Amino acid sequence: MTSPWRSGAVASVVVAMLLTASAWHGAAGEPAPAPTTPAPEKKPDAPVCDRAAFRLVVDVGHTAEVPGAKTSRGLHEYEFNLRLAKLIDQQLRDAGFSRTILLITDGGKMASLAQRVARANASGADLFLSIHHDSVPDQFLEKWIYQGEEHSFSDRFKGHSIFISNDNPDRTDSLAFARLLGRQMKARGLQYTHHYTEKFMGSRQRVLVDADAGVYRYDQLIVLKDTLMPAALLEAGSIINRDEELALATPERQALISASVLDAVDAYCATRRPLRPANTAHPTPSAARAKPKPAPAAAPSPAPAAAAWPFSWFKRQ
Ligand SMILES: [Zn+2]
Repeated sequence: MTSPWRSGAVASVVVAMLLTASAWHGAAGEPAPAPTTPAPEKKPDAPVCDRAAFRLVVDVGHTAEVPGAKTSRGLHEYEFNLRLAKLIDQQLRDAGFSRTILLITDGGKMASLAQRVARANASGADLFLSIHHDSVPDQFLEKWIYQGEEHSFSDRFKGHSIFISNDNPDRTDSLAFARLLGRQMKARGLQYTHHYTEKFMGSRQRVLVDADAGVYRYDQLIVLKDTLMPAALLEAGSIINRDEELALATPERQALISASVLDAVDAYCATRRPLRPANTAHPTPSAARAKPKPAPAAAPSPAPAAAAWPFSWFKRQ
């Protein structure tokens, strides 16, 4: 408890200090300012993202009709992609990235690829991120019984991976964003998979561009090479791995991944001015400078099937 004497003494000291401060300001010929808390020190050159002007396309890998890989418990990759992409979209919007586009396509494999590239390019987006979940080549699959039914699995690999294409018109910024994303995931304790560097991956072996962030190069991916803006593809984890499938289905893991995307997009955006006013949706200046590409809807890329689609080895249609 505070005694009346002590309160009175403190009040006297405060009044004296205020009078002194007032007298000093009076002597300087300036009015005494209202007492305020000191402003936090501002970093003068810290880049800031204009979130309302920045547009990310969150591409949902595969379609309801052609749902991608099967999980070790017989679910479809598309369900995982859609759920995670929706969460990322919502989290970005909640954080002020109001121009974010959740890109959902339909139909067959090539039709949906052409559709997603055409729609992304027409959107005038600053950045493109495709969301997938990983599987393995057939030779690694084993069988097990889950809830009375036989399913394929492989517990050999786990972890996420990020891909970029050197054939994207803006390879530099694609890599810059992919690195930011990989580092954000690493900072949250998520580990990328190294197995794409192994010889046993054969035609699916990839060059590891950034060993710290887990960024691989995959030039032929249509969504990475035919998009006119910087682009990356995230394999969020392995759903053919029995433990990781369960982890990826949890809100906790999904929240870690979506928070990683938000922070990576924010950091990327902060280093890069939006390429157009907020209310237009024309191709970007960088897109206009990009090398001419065939219109994807009219003439899909003539790449061979294995190269045209990232994970054709585990498609079961
Ligand atoms: Zn996929």
